Amino acid sequence: MRHNRFDTILKIVLVVGIVLIIILGAYILFQIHTERSAAENGAAETAAAENAGGKTGSDTFSESAVKAESETTENIAAEGLTSAASSSAAAEPDPSKYNTADNWALILVNSSHPYPNGYTVPVTTIENGQSTDSRCADQLQQMLADCRAAGYDPLVVSGYRTHSQQIQDFESMTAMYMSGGYSEEEAKAKTAESVAIPGTSEHETALSADIGCEHNTAIDSSQDEEETQKWLHENCWKYGYALRYPEGKQDITKIVYESWHYRYVGMTAAKVMYDENICLEEYLQKYVEPFTSLEELDRQAMETLGLAYTGSASADS
Ligand SMILES: [Zn+2]
Repeated sequence: MRHNRFDTILKIVLVVGIVLIIILGAYILFQIHTERSAAENGAAETAAAENAGGKTGSDTFSESAVKAESETTENIAAEGLTSAASSSAAAEPDPSKYNTADNWALILVNSSHPYPNGYTVPVTTIENGQSTDSRCADQLQQMLADCRAAGYDPLVVSGYRTHSQQIQDFESMTAMYMSGGYSEEEAKAKTAESVAIPGTSEHETALSADIGCEHNTAIDSSQDEEETQKWLHENCWKYGYALRYPEGKQDITKIVYESWHYRYVGMTAAKVMYDENICLEEYLQKYVEPFTSLEELDRQAMETLGLAYTGSASADS
């Protein structure tokens, strides 16, 4: 009896042991499989980020990134996000480098991205008959005051421009090149290097200011060596401004180096752009587009102004 009972106990122990080993084995296999698919997802994301290098690729990337953002905030709790974030640095939210409260100031306006249809902002007159977006007027005034207090002589030469003013500016420079012997097509292309095609000028958004000097109001390369510009280049980020068309970034901005053109981008972006020596296009691609598409930025910019978003204004000249 005793011997039989011992046998039975031994059998039960063996069966339980085998069952435990099978469960443990299945668990290990499941873990290996999960890690492998997470790694594959990570590789796919990295590839998507790399493909986004070009302008055309970035749209596709933005869409998937926006999708990732909504999933992040709504559905997926920590587990899915952690593996995705650790495998792709670009998808990791970094609040110190992107403040969504400033999205209205990040609106991108360039040759391939016109401002949204019907975009109009409240403007404030600052000085020299020039005006700027009322929401950054105090920052601009403070920057000018501090620059003057440091012993320099900044003067806003061109701030907000209406659409018709921009058309006029573009046409008069085109005419100047044509009188110099260029064909109309060549003259327009030449003009577009320094004057934005109407509909794609930041001056039409009222977030930009061309700042010259009281002793030199020429908006051209003569500003490059002005001490006033040097002070502004070093300090504009402290007021939420960025030198919009820096030296060496023409391939990206499609605008020649402009030592005088400052753009309000908000405090967070201005500091990051200054610290990392990157232009607005690069900042958006690196820190914003993984979470918020350019279209969404446009929509938000319109929304903060109480305007309905109906797509981008088409460029005309
Ligand atoms: Zn300008």
